[in-house]
Amino acid sequence: TRRQRAKQRQPQPPEPAADYEHIGVVLRLRPLLRWERREGFREAVAKYADAALQVDGPQPKLCRCDKAFDGDTGQREFFRDSGVVPLIDSSFEGFRSTAFAYGQTGAGKTYTMVGGDDALGGLVQSRRGRRRRAETPGTDEDDGLLPRALAHVFARVDALRRKQKTRVRMTCLEIYRDVVTDMLAPESAQNRPALKIREHASHGFFVEGLRACDGTSAAQCAGVLGKALACRRVGAHKLNARSSRSHCVVTLYVDSEPKNGGRTTYGSVSFVDLAGSERLKETGSGRDKRMLADAGHINKSLYTLGKVIRGLERLARDPSTAPRVPYRDSALTKLLISSLGGSSKTLMVGCCASSDKAIPETLRTVDFAARVRGIKNLPRVHVAEHQNLVQRLREEIARLKQENAEL
Ligand code: ADP
Ligand code: MG
Repeated sequence: TRRQRAKQRQPQPPEPAADYEHIGVVLRLRPLLRWERREGFREAVAKYADAALQVDGPQPKLCRCDKAFDGDTGQREFFRDSGVVPLIDSSFEGFRSTAFAYGQTGAGKTYTMVGGDDALGGLVQSRRGRRRRAETPGTDEDDGLLPRALAHVFARVDALRRKQKTRVRMTCLEIYRDVVTDMLAPESAQNRPALKIREHASHGFFVEGLRACDGTSAAQCAGVLGKALACRRVGAHKLNARSSRSHCVVTLYVDSEPKNGGRTTYGSVSFVDLAGSERLKETGSGRDKRMLADAGHINKSLYTLGKVIRGLERLARDPSTAPRVPYRDSALTKLLISSLGGSSKTLMVGCCASSDKAIPETLRTVDFAARVRGIKNLPRVHVAEHQNLVQRLREEIARLKQENAEL
């Protein structure tokens, strides 16, 4: 029956002998911003030892994680110590991995994933004159994980050049109101077609027709990405609704072909900047109907993510309970399912504002982080191509047609 089949498709409970690893969870505090100080907001969250935050309140709360970062932590240090480097490196060995930022709007998700307002795009003044930030990704203190990851990936490609041939590709998608669009598409942001999420029997979910751009250097990728993300940035000023309510996923695919004739591996590393996790009533966006609908969608997809996390956490604790894990209920969870309790390596960055005004949302973020930490993944190496399968088949068909025509 349908029910039984659905049950079979649920993530399977852990097998004892395998090398499970729990999802890495780090918490990062954003310092008080100037306007928050001006308004008289107080610092109410602080790092407590190496792997915990303390949130003030009538009863101060300790929130444990794998590593905590206070507001003084610079971008370079965060990249080095957050655990993202091993994720990137593992993509060269055929693992799929995901780093995602979770937290309320303004807590520092985009700052962490991409960087300060100019990252990947703006101009900087250097001794040799003005240059685009994208030309030297990862070198500016303000640069976040993505520009640093690009620099790291291509440095590694170079370092491994004698041993293997590496192919890097990049995709960039947005999920807004549960609809996936391609941020590398040539159309303007409003005119992009909605893409379908399809499921492959053995390779899982993929986005049909998503463009993958070949990556030749860090600067070239940063340029492409800077342009793709610029529309989201414009959105941040003009249409704050969209940028804080959409999810953005940038993936670097790394194919490694050893020169000694060993097997080719297909790894990837994704960077996910999730929509703001705040509750609707606290954002005051219920006034306008359209915005209400937007928030409803976000709430739906983040709400589904929350349910999926709860289900997976329960599954990890007691496999015999077979909880429902409703990952099919939203585009976001379909695309994330292999990163959550699946075959990927995963890092969650819980972004927390440090002000007293943000305490309720901060508590929700650390609570979510604690649940995520309970989930276990069973990472495995990918040796078969899976992403863009349809795209490849299409290319193959086109090639055969061409051959046929020539005959
Ligand atoms: P989000 O993407 O979660 O909505 P942003 O990343 O846009 O939040 O951050 C909101 C503001 O706070 C931005 O102006 C950003 O530059 C600043 N900010 C965020 N995190 C930090 C940090 N760790 N240090 C300094 N400024 C930060
Ligand atoms: Mg943001």
